[in-house]
Amino acid sequence: MKPLSVLLVEDNADDAELLIHELERANYRCHWRRVDRPEPFLRAVEGEAWDLILADFSMPRFSSIAALELLKKSGRDIPFIMVSGSAGEETAVAAMRAGAQDFFPKGNLRRLAAAVERELREARVRKERLEAMAELRGVEERYRRIVENVREYAIFMLDSKGLVASWNRGAERLTGYREDEILGRPLELFYSEQERAVDKPKLTLDAVCQSGSQLAEGCRLRRDGSSFWAECTLDRIQVDGELFGFSAIFHDITEKKRLLDDLRQSVNARDEFLTIAAHELKTPLTSMELHMQSFKRLVLSDPKAAKKLEVLEHQARRLGQLVNDLLDVARITSNRIELQPERFDLREAVQAVIYRMTPWIERANSAVSVSSPEPLIGCWDRGRVETIFSNLLSNALKYGEGKPVEVAIRKEGGLGVLEVRDSGIGVPPQEHERIFQRFERAVPVRHYGGFGLGLWIVRQIVEAHQGTIRVRSHPGEGSVFTVELPLEARAFQEPRTEEGNASATTTH
Ligand code: ADP
Repeated sequence: MKPLSVLLVEDNADDAELLIHELERANYRCHWRRVDRPEPFLRAVEGEAWDLILADFSMPRFSSIAALELLKKSGRDIPFIMVSGSAGEETAVAAMRAGAQDFFPKGNLRRLAAAVERELREARVRKERLEAMAELRGVEERYRRIVENVREYAIFMLDSKGLVASWNRGAERLTGYREDEILGRPLELFYSEQERAVDKPKLTLDAVCQSGSQLAEGCRLRRDGSSFWAECTLDRIQVDGELFGFSAIFHDITEKKRLLDDLRQSVNARDEFLTIAAHELKTPLTSMELHMQSFKRLVLSDPKAAKKLEVLEHQARRLGQLVNDLLDVARITSNRIELQPERFDLREAVQAVIYRMTPWIERANSAVSVSSPEPLIGCWDRGRVETIFSNLLSNALKYGEGKPVEVAIRKEGGLGVLEVRDSGIGVPPQEHERIFQRFERAVPVRHYGGFGLGLWIVRQIVEAHQGTIRVRSHPGEGSVFTVELPLEARAFQEPRTEEGNASATTTH
């Protein structure tokens, strides 16, 4: 049996029993009370939880319509069904008009149980809906408070015409407008006169209408006319497919932008300094090299002096290499990596570098062997490709601990592959990515000199040829650097755009 608590508004005890009997026949276990006057009725309604009220239409000291009025006033939602001894259409109409959920003549209670069932169900649905709405209102309220209290971001709503419809504390702090001053005023207040003249605010909202959302940076105005640099997010809000308005978030990035600009300027200043310094260093170096050549002829007969001169020459060459690296960095950073492709055999370029580096190779005491089963003709910038190899070879000599260095040249599909393998100190796997970055090194300066630029230069050149470079290495197990260059590079890298992004040259 289903439990049911019923409040009977009934002056006749027998009729009350009859009603309860009817419900119990329909499998309800009733807990019930009978009242027949207003005060006990109110006390009962307010003091206990009832599933159902069954009320007699007319009683000497009370009526069901009066009971219904009292129930409404109490604010309780309890299914209310009227019963009446005088079954007449007029009574039924009056009962339903007063707001009863159903009406039954006492002589015909056959449908009563079904009506009770239905009313209980509907009351349950109403209750659940009310609870859900209360919860929603709670969530809304919490969300509103959070938004209201955000101080670092201006968060506000615009209606479909672009007029401000809500305002938070951050918006007041950022723009200087109070809520009562800004509500109902247009978005264009935050735009400069020039931007308003070209209809920027309207065009922006039109674009957001089309795309759904927009993230942009721009200069925005405060109430006092001063400006700030803002990151602005605008989102379209639609309800049932109709434009309802926009949500807007402004974030003040003036400081961030200033720092970025400063940083950019410092980087530019550094690169400019590198270029100038490298050029300045190059001039005396070239003259030194020329003087050493003529000096060499003068000391030919003195082996001791010749030996010392050899050391001097080596040091000068090393200095020259470092200056060249610096010049390369400066050139590459300022987008001047211009390739001059020509058709040549990679084996010849490798041999030419080995020949030029003979003094280095001898000093490092490493044997350098080259395996190249066939000619490898490709279309590359020869000078740059020689730089790739000479940087890899000088690293292999520098970090190779005097052990042999193996160079392999082969063709794989449409690629020319150049591999430089040493058996030296190796590189820990977690450093493999970092060593290709500018000024990054995986060894202490006091053990191995260098700027940490060689591999960065190599990677820039390889990528300009649309090739790839990778390293396989472990500490103590040597390293293998593998360069793959397309034999026929389809398009060489063009000068980069101002922001430093490569312009669209990819033809993969
Ligand atoms: P540099 O040699 O001037 O430091 P590179 O850019 O040529 O600059 O190399 C970056 C770092 O990569 C080096 O400092 C070194 O830690 C590591 N490295 C490069 N080549 C090798 C190699 N063959 N064996 C071991 N470590 C290497």
